[in-house]
Amino acid sequence: MHKGIAASSGIAIGCVFLLEEDDFIVQKREIIDEKFEISRFRSALNKTKQEMIQTKKKALQRLGKKHARLFDAYLLILDDTMLRQDTIEMIAKNKVSAEYALQQVMEKVLLFFKEIDDEYFKERGQDIYNVGRKVLRHLLGREKKVLSQLESQVIVVAHNLTPSDTIAMREEKVIGFATDIGGKTSHVAIMAHSLEIPAVVGLKDITKKIKNGDMIIIDGDQGIVILNPDPVTIENYYRKQQIFIAEEKDLEKLKDLPAITLDGQEINLVANIEVPEEIKSVLFHGANGIGLYRTEYLYMNRKDFPTEEEQYESYKVVAKNMLPYSVTIRTLDLGGDKVTQQFKLAPERNPFLGLRAIRLCLKYPDIFKTQLRAILRASTEGKLKIMYPMISGIEELRQANMILEEVKKDLRGKRIDFDNEIEVGVMIEVPSAALVVDVLVQESDFLSIGTNDLIQYSLAVDRVNENVTNLYNPLHLSILRLLKRIVQAGEKAGKWVAMCGEMAADPSVTTILLGLGLREFSMSAVSIPKIKRVIRSIKIKETKQLADEIMGLSDNCQIKKVLRKKEV
Ligand code: PEP
Ligand code: MG
Repeated sequence: MHKGIAASSGIAIGCVFLLEEDDFIVQKREIIDEKFEISRFRSALNKTKQEMIQTKKKALQRLGKKHARLFDAYLLILDDTMLRQDTIEMIAKNKVSAEYALQQVMEKVLLFFKEIDDEYFKERGQDIYNVGRKVLRHLLGREKKVLSQLESQVIVVAHNLTPSDTIAMREEKVIGFATDIGGKTSHVAIMAHSLEIPAVVGLKDITKKIKNGDMIIIDGDQGIVILNPDPVTIENYYRKQQIFIAEEKDLEKLKDLPAITLDGQEINLVANIEVPEEIKSVLFHGANGIGLYRTEYLYMNRKDFPTEEEQYESYKVVAKNMLPYSVTIRTLDLGGDKVTQQFKLAPERNPFLGLRAIRLCLKYPDIFKTQLRAILRASTEGKLKIMYPMISGIEELRQANMILEEVKKDLRGKRIDFDNEIEVGVMIEVPSAALVVDVLVQESDFLSIGTNDLIQYSLAVDRVNENVTNLYNPLHLSILRLLKRIVQAGEKAGKWVAMCGEMAADPSVTTILLGLGLREFSMSAVSIPKIKRVIRSIKIKETKQLADEIMGLSDNCQIKKVLRKKEV
């Protein structure tokens, strides 16, 4: 049994699909029959070509001509003498294996392009390298190691997954996953949760202990994985899985009941989404709107920026389908663990403290304006709100609002309709924002607490680092004090305050959050019934007493003791 971090509930039992890190170590191997090696190389080229033609066909169907053109460039690289001829010559001259020759040629090409002081050419070098790797995979017999070509249901085991890998799983046959690294509130974990894929992260070296085709059990509640379990264990876990499914079904019954406390306080339960396709699940789980639409996912798995039109279409679909409810669109929050290719930024040493979210948007106002225009145009189709991520002080809020005003003015000038009354809110997820929340609230229509980042930044605990997960403590007195401060600032200014971080989805803290005065919770749609069940079982008066009691305690052991007592 291997202990990791529980990232997404549920039990998965299946075969391992090991998503290896992409570095192949190719040993030098001398050969006698160079003709045979050259024909192996040609056949690998050919297989790669056929594979690319198939992928191009798929891209044509799904993404249209423009994006499919990218594959023409790859096909040209395959035919280029740089890879083809040089490798053949090296096999013939040095009498080495095809894979070794190709690897040498690829390294040479990469080095050559790296030395050119031009970003464009550097990238072309990487393209040639990537095409070379595909050929290498065939030579090494490692074809089909990509998520998009899965033929049966599998459990993906990987050193690391990026949010874009996870989003690719949406359409694939992935029933669970386990990773060496990662924390509970990493975006990969959040995605797994909303896709309802059981997941355990932060297992440190699971990829070294496992091979393709091994049997594995993922227990996403306990945060454990079991390799090659015996039949009795498998049987037990199948039973656990049935219980989990039955509980989920039971929770579904709450879907159409109101989220109301025993003493009649209504609570607004809304959903977090990453992509418009989630709306079905949002409505299914009984959400009263969308409190956080993470729009940065529109930028993932592609090289170009999404156009205004594309963004407009996505926002329009969400706005329309969610009527009569409202949708809070968060402006681009790239950076941190959500890295995309468009900005071509060099890797940062501390990405979570770097050019992230609103900082990136203020540095690239044209990109920001395109998104704001798309949101404003879509605002006539439903009830949209705008929310800025990672605001750290009033200056950033004013700058963002100034840009928004410019966009509005431009639209008015062009007689393009939008909702003139659109509300604009601020995420409170940086400690400095929480400390000046009384100032920020004056110039915003609402606040939404992003506890994932607020906790990370307040406690100095990297949310994606498995080594410090034990220090990531939502009930730290400092966090409770910040939450109280934010809610009170909202109350005083007559503005509503929501919470959209993962803390809002944790039923063990719902009572405290209600006691602190929170009345809107936004979370992955699947979590809504669980939170609703807690809400429907308590009185506000009791929640206030609990919050007061907890706030009077100074250490975490005492807090946990009190909470445990209340559970009984
Ligand atoms: C948060 O930080 O709590 C939040 C909701 O935003 P994200 O998880 O996308 O950083
Ligand atoms: Mg955040």
